[in-house]
Amino acid sequence: MARRLLVAGNWKMNNTVGQSLDLVESLKKETRDIHKVDIIVAPPFTAIKPVYDILENSSIQISGQNVFWEESGAYTGEVSPMMLKEAGCKWVIVGHSERRQYFGETDETVNRRLKAAAPAGLKVIACVGETLEEREKGETMAVLERQVKGAMAGVSHSEIEKVVIAYEPVWAIGTGKTATSDQAEEAHAFIRSVVAGLYDVGVGESTRILYGGSVKAQNAQELFSRANVDGGLVGGASLKAQEFIAIIRAALESSE
Ligand code: PEP
Repeated sequence: MARRLLVAGNWKMNNTVGQSLDLVESLKKETRDIHKVDIIVAPPFTAIKPVYDILENSSIQISGQNVFWEESGAYTGEVSPMMLKEAGCKWVIVGHSERRQYFGETDETVNRRLKAAAPAGLKVIACVGETLEEREKGETMAVLERQVKGAMAGVSHSEIEKVVIAYEPVWAIGTGKTATSDQAEEAHAFIRSVVAGLYDVGVGESTRILYGGSVKAQNAQELFSRANVDGGLVGGASLKAQEFIAIIRAALESSE
């Protein structure tokens, strides 16, 4: 089954509103001719609405970087699914390793965030990935299985269609160390088999699995050409318009 490639830029805690607008103006202009790849940007919360106003008539979609599971209330510092939707998001990232590492995110809280997003009409990029220590101990597949099953617990067949999984080995995020395309392919094929086991082979085949971890213009094509790699979740390289556009074009070439 041909899965549509997706390239998402996770800006993390970078870009003021002014910088965000400069970046998306360039992206909008230079990706006008690209229709075969889904493009997403995930600005910090403060820039979501201004970015949405610029991107309104473009095919570039917007994602939040995190979401809380309650609709409203005394949850200082959190943002609800409806708030993201209202500001212009179609997507939200959950379970990023930086959230797991620095903000106490667990498989259970990732699952709660994921399950709250769908009813509000948000699609989800759910991140999983092993640390270097876990890889060296030979625990990679066990960690991926635990994280995928944890994120998807109680998620129905209809909701899973709205979920994209991002395989992001923690040791490759922001380090300049990219997984080899063989390592990525092996992990993605395994994740696909876990999803097929949880749902069915059809769902396993149709679920998109992105690779994330130091994706750059120079390694994107090699990664995206692998059978089970359906695009990328890009951090640092998504902050530079030309680099991000080159990654999107690599996805386009891989899908043709
Ligand atoms: C990320 O933030 O999801 C990421 C993969 O970062 P980087 O591309 O900078 O490694």
